[in-house]
Amino acid sequence: MLSERLLSAAVRALGGKYFRLEATEGLTELPDPEPGVRYMLYMHVPFCEVLCPYCSFNRFPFSEDRAKAYFRSMREEMRMLADKGYTFYEVYVGGGTPTVDMDELAKTIGLARELFPTIGDVSSETNPNHLVPGYLEKLSSLVQRLSVGVQSFDDGLLKRMARYGKYGSSQQILERIQAVSDARLFKSLNVDMIFNFPGQTPEMIDHDIACVKASGATQTTFYPLMVSPASRASIEKTVGHVTYDNEAKFYHQIYDSFCGGDHPEFRPSSCYTFSREEGQMIDEYVVNYEQYPAIGSGGISYLNGSLYINTFSLRDYRDRIARGDMSVMARTDFPKRDEMRYRFMMGLFGLEIDKREWRERFGCSVARGLPVEYAFMKANGAFDRDDDEKLTLTPKGRYLMVVMMRQFFIGVNSLRDQARAALPEDEARLVFDGIEAGRSDARCPMASGAAAASAVPASQA
Ligand code: SF4
Repeated sequence: MLSERLLSAAVRALGGKYFRLEATEGLTELPDPEPGVRYMLYMHVPFCEVLCPYCSFNRFPFSEDRAKAYFRSMREEMRMLADKGYTFYEVYVGGGTPTVDMDELAKTIGLARELFPTIGDVSSETNPNHLVPGYLEKLSSLVQRLSVGVQSFDDGLLKRMARYGKYGSSQQILERIQAVSDARLFKSLNVDMIFNFPGQTPEMIDHDIACVKASGATQTTFYPLMVSPASRASIEKTVGHVTYDNEAKFYHQIYDSFCGGDHPEFRPSSCYTFSREEGQMIDEYVVNYEQYPAIGSGGISYLNGSLYINTFSLRDYRDRIARGDMSVMARTDFPKRDEMRYRFMMGLFGLEIDKREWRERFGCSVARGLPVEYAFMKANGAFDRDDDEKLTLTPKGRYLMVVMMRQFFIGVNSLRDQARAALPEDEARLVFDGIEAGRSDARCPMASGAAAASAVPASQA
């Protein structure tokens, strides 16, 4: 599709301008909060039990000592935000695997609630092997929204991604999620999926959709496959050659299956997140929160028109916090036009732009502020409602936003690639060795005695 290619190239070019990792001289802290802004706190936990070869996130192999020291530093960094006067309404814990050390996670979320009593919901990511009693008992008292990384319910694909041995077969994963869902342990239970894998067929997509529906999860996020330059070789070696030829077709299949017809079971919460109920927090918190400080190694903050990037090195992270600095090491300022582009993309990805709010904020209409972007989307039939109040999307418009977000996150991933390339030698070796260990799909946490039991804590079954 020509519009898909043009859009990919445009967002790639914009990303190339901003997703460059250059340390900013003298930068030791995030800015103070602005009055009247609603902030969300992002915390990054960069540890996984086994490193997946294709993954672009900032993550290191888990060791208890490393993780305990890291969590201690992150709590210190959280106190720095409190001292600055920040207030938060929601928390998102991402990774890595945030649930890799439950005691430390509990202490950290506990401190967040103590320092910021306005916090409502806490959201955390996890992997299917942690949907077991020991973890779930603690998790259900800590977080209201749990997001489980599943990626696919196809055993062949799970094997090719080296996830089958680590996280179990699709049937095992499905049964675990069903058990968690039946026990109603969380206000919101999200299942993360990926579509457009090489070799994926419409029948495989249908199977994934059916499994998600059968799982009882309250929400699902279907990400388009995102391949950064550095992870392309690894992905092509494991899952095959990546093209975008089927992406639009698969996307419409997924959207229509969840949200089509007269009585859909799900409603769109964003262009690729579908929820059984409205008003649920989503993985793309950037849609609901315009500004979010991030703590932890590899965190990225967006505050008052600037992007801030935290150090990706664990040692540098520890040293910065120990000397009383925050972990932020680079800052890029968005000129007003690019801030508009960012809001245009996030607003439409979240399904609509409120034109009155836009005018109040930027002092001009969307069409005047971003004439090229607006004209491109309009010419491609992307807008459904386009009146004085709102801008909303047609099915084609929703797909074009998926393309924009795919390219945007590929840009973020390439930033992570640069950060990884700049790691000190011993930390780079740690990641490399962890990836080599992860290439074999032999380790199966689900084969352990604990995992073989019911996924639901006995007290709540
Ligand atoms: S994809 Fe694998 S390595 Fe990456 S964060 Fe998830 S579990 Fe960790």
